[in-house]
Amino acid sequence: RAKALGRGSFQIYADHLAEDFNRRTQLESALRQAIDLDELYLEYQPRFRADNGQITGIEALLRWRSERFGQIAPDEFIPIAEESGQIVPLGRWVLDRALTEFSACMHRLPPDITLSINLSPRQIQSSDLDEDILLAMRLHNMPGERLDLEITETFIVEDYVDCERFMQRLTAHGVTFSLDDFGTGYSNLVSLSNLPLAALKIDKSFVRDLADRSNHLAIVEAIIQLGHNLDMRVVAEGVEDEQQLACLQQLHCDETQGYYHARPQAMQSLCERFSQADV
Ligand code: C2E
Ligand code: MG
Ligand code: MG
Ligand code: MG
Repeated sequence: RAKALGRGSFQIYADHLAEDFNRRTQLESALRQAIDLDELYLEYQPRFRADNGQITGIEALLRWRSERFGQIAPDEFIPIAEESGQIVPLGRWVLDRALTEFSACMHRLPPDITLSINLSPRQIQSSDLDEDILLAMRLHNMPGERLDLEITETFIVEDYVDCERFMQRLTAHGVTFSLDDFGTGYSNLVSLSNLPLAALKIDKSFVRDLADRSNHLAIVEAIIQLGHNLDMRVVAEGVEDEQQLACLQQLHCDETQGYYHARPQAMQSLCERFSQADV
């Protein structure tokens, strides 16, 4: 009987695996047509100064509404795009679309707010990402100072030398870099401190439990201290309530981002909300 049960649960497990695999394969092939079918769009989530609430920048976040599968979350399709290599054309699309939309609105937004774009490790490995970015900046008349690139620890760990060269080439043009999801990766702190990083973004998993878990409070406090000692700004992501914000303010976190302030939204609506023109 135990044996039968064991087999039964194995069968369920195997069925799940097969289902997952099927969905993945289907999403992967649907994703290949997403650009041509015009199924992709961007939303933007603002960041704010923790002390006075002023907007400091906006982050572009990729969205996919598939004709066949409906709305698919980035946490599901980005890993598929990374593994299949499609993140390279998708990343180019994001860069071009974000710069197009941002440069159309830029003059109505406060003067030094930045546009942040997320990059995946695969994008840097595939040839001329730095040239692509510089070209897109020229094309859209985008000053380097207005562009911020979010990279992760994986990005750095996979090829430190290439990564450093890439970062230096772009920082020479005024572009800044932020380290996303900090605290969840495996990077070496000495290597990190040698890279031209302007900001650390504390992963939202630490922010979520700030009030309930004293170890998370200790970690957040240490990250803020570390960032400041290395002359970096520290940004907390995933701020969902007033309590979390108050706690981050008390710890002298520089900037906050999260549903409490604003959800990711279309450029048009952001532009209306933060417009400086005609005031
Ligand atoms: P990320 O770059 O760390 O972005 C933050 C994620 O947290 C976003 O999820 C955002 O919608 C979500 N978020 C913001 N505020 C809150 C909050 O208060 N509470 C909670 N629970 N979540 C919040 P999203 O848009 O689903 O994106 C997930 C991840 O997908 C991103 O994490 C990023 O790693 C990746 N991604 C999104 N767009 C792109 C892209 O254009 N290129 C690349 N390479 N990756 C992207
Ligand atoms: Mg990000
Ligand atoms: Mg990320
Ligand atoms: Mg993050």
